[in-house]
Amino acid sequence: MKYHDDARDVRFNLLEWLDLDGLLASEAFSEVDREQLGMVLDEALKVAAGSVAACNERGDREGARFEGGRVVLPEGFPEAYRDLASGGWISATMNPAFGGMGLPECVGTGISEFLMGANTALGLQTLLTRGAAHLIETFGSDELKATFVEKMYGGEWAGTMCLTEAGAGSDLGALATKATRQADGSYLIAGEKIFITSGEHGLTPNIIHAVLARTPDAPAGPKGLSLFVVPKVRVHADGSLGESNDVTCAGIEHKLGIHGSPTCSLVFGAGGACQGFLLGQEQQGLSHMFQMMNAARYEVGVQGLGNASAAHQAALAYARERLQGRAPGAPKGVSQSPIVEHPDVRRMLLLQAAFVQAMRALVSHTAWCMDMAHVSQGEEHDRWQGQVELLTPVCKAWCSDWGFRVTEWALQTYGGYGYCMEYPAEQYLRDCKIASIYEGTNGIQALDLVGRKFRMQEGRPVKALLAAVQDTVDALAPHPVLGPCAGPLAEALQALQAVLAGLPSRPEGPLLTMLNAAPLLDLLAHAVAGHLLLRQAALAHGTLGALLAERGVPPGDAAATRALLAESPEAAFLHNKVQAARCFAFRALPPATALAPAMLSGDLSPMEAVL
Ligand SMILES: Cc1cc2nc3c(=O)[nH]c(=O)nc-3n(C[C@H](O)[C@H](O)[C@H](O)COP(=O)(O)OP(=O)(O)OC[C@H]3O[C@@H](n4cnc5c(N)ncnc54)[C@H](O)[C@@H]3O)c2cc1C
Repeated sequence: MKYHDDARDVRFNLLEWLDLDGLLASEAFSEVDREQLGMVLDEALKVAAGSVAACNERGDREGARFEGGRVVLPEGFPEAYRDLASGGWISATMNPAFGGMGLPECVGTGISEFLMGANTALGLQTLLTRGAAHLIETFGSDELKATFVEKMYGGEWAGTMCLTEAGAGSDLGALATKATRQADGSYLIAGEKIFITSGEHGLTPNIIHAVLARTPDAPAGPKGLSLFVVPKVRVHADGSLGESNDVTCAGIEHKLGIHGSPTCSLVFGAGGACQGFLLGQEQQGLSHMFQMMNAARYEVGVQGLGNASAAHQAALAYARERLQGRAPGAPKGVSQSPIVEHPDVRRMLLLQAAFVQAMRALVSHTAWCMDMAHVSQGEEHDRWQGQVELLTPVCKAWCSDWGFRVTEWALQTYGGYGYCMEYPAEQYLRDCKIASIYEGTNGIQALDLVGRKFRMQEGRPVKALLAAVQDTVDALAPHPVLGPCAGPLAEALQALQAVLAGLPSRPEGPLLTMLNAAPLLDLLAHAVAGHLLLRQAALAHGTLGALLAERGVPPGDAAATRALLAESPEAAFLHNKVQAARCFAFRALPPATALAPAMLSGDLSPMEAVL
């Protein structure tokens, strides 16, 4: 299946919009420059569009299979995985001391978007391996680090995240897997985990599981959890592989999408011989695991973007080819126009582009905040870190929810063919749906935002974020083209401020806040993504003006401008960024703003209904 990328906008985000000067001047990133970052994106796109995309459709049709206790991945997956591992793509942003490339997160975002868009099932494999290895790098003893981290970053061994159990999904405090300390300092692990992505596969000779479990004397609930590294195969002191570590796969799920990704039930210690090693402190497991969960939540947001962008680009290509009906303004004698000429199809396509670009702006900005936190100290570090923590559930929930909707609009663009397996639209839609469910459902993300993230650091991060949106409103108002967009952005911001101030002061404030957490996250995300997208549009408008001047197009000459837009892909890209931002301002912001009165109405019908 061909991967239709949006590399021009990915480059715009990274190389033209984000302020990289400070980052690249810092010691951490002194070895790279803009040109190299651009080359990294080019190379990542080559592998994504090559072997990774080549097995995406087959991965969906064949799916991972469970045969005789083994998991067999679809044809093409092992070769594509090898390409990812040998190219260093599993650990592009990770510590060079352990074999990573040490690149900024804001380029990692572009790499992840390409991989997730080209083949989500395989992209997940890299995400989990990187995350599990990073846990060991952060919380493991020197011995554990030396044994596992470099091999995992290099893709020689893979990794997983083992939280979920049959009785404990969102409610991690109910986890029951046991960890009993042995005389040699290791632990015996016993329990069953379900829904473990890539819990078993034949890609690597060892799989390193990051497992949450409970020691015998630990208190009930989330505070009693500890974190363990549990290899599938035991590792000798010299790094060679020993006997099996008593971790078995009991089966895999049959699911709506990501068929190439094995979702495994794992049994730890059925034979009483599963050895685990503590990471960090006993009973600090959940707080340690949050490092991996937060990174994965952010990357699941990037999955939503990657699926949405690929689905949109494929739909756009189809719409340019498919002939149906005569479009308004078509030349005389034309009986059928490409459907891309029909106003309703154009509405769907530009709305898709607007949301995709808004998501990309949001995740790119968040990644940049991660990098800024990484290169700063003290109060400045706390300021950037506050933004990262505030925006993580927003990226996860908003990009997965709206990413899914974009895949639906993309499917709709095809008409009946979109519903059929001959075209990729239905696979993108099915593969995207999981993003709103795993890594903490989007309902849980919204509760995290309103319950924890708004309150952290005495509310300074959210205040700073809203002040940045206000700055954009003020800066945009006098703009010759984008000025009218300041109105819908200001209205979204005012609505958001009214809800934030109004909900807690109600008698049923806490209940109303929980009841409205999801629409509140949605409104905040629209306002923030809208402000970022409009800032991008202002930049694109300025660059387009310079390009028109350079090509000798007189200001205000509509015919000459149209001619240049028709002949120059670069001019068309910049022009379309302005149109996408206008579309977002006038067609996406008002429906989100309209949710505010509903939130402030005090409506408690869901609580009063007999369900
Ligand atoms: C394909 C796939 C891959 C997965 N990969 C992994 C993996 O690699 N590792 C891993 O550990 N897990 C994995 N999971 C598990 C996933 O993280 C859980 O499915 C998810 O956290 C939800 O848990 P649950 O399915 O038990 O749903 P439940 O927790 O039962 O939730 C059901 C519904 O109730 C809501 N709900 C639950 N509690 C609350 C609450 N307190 N407040 C408000 N609403 C609530 C939820 O939002 C949801 O809508 C995977 C799942 C799937 C389907």
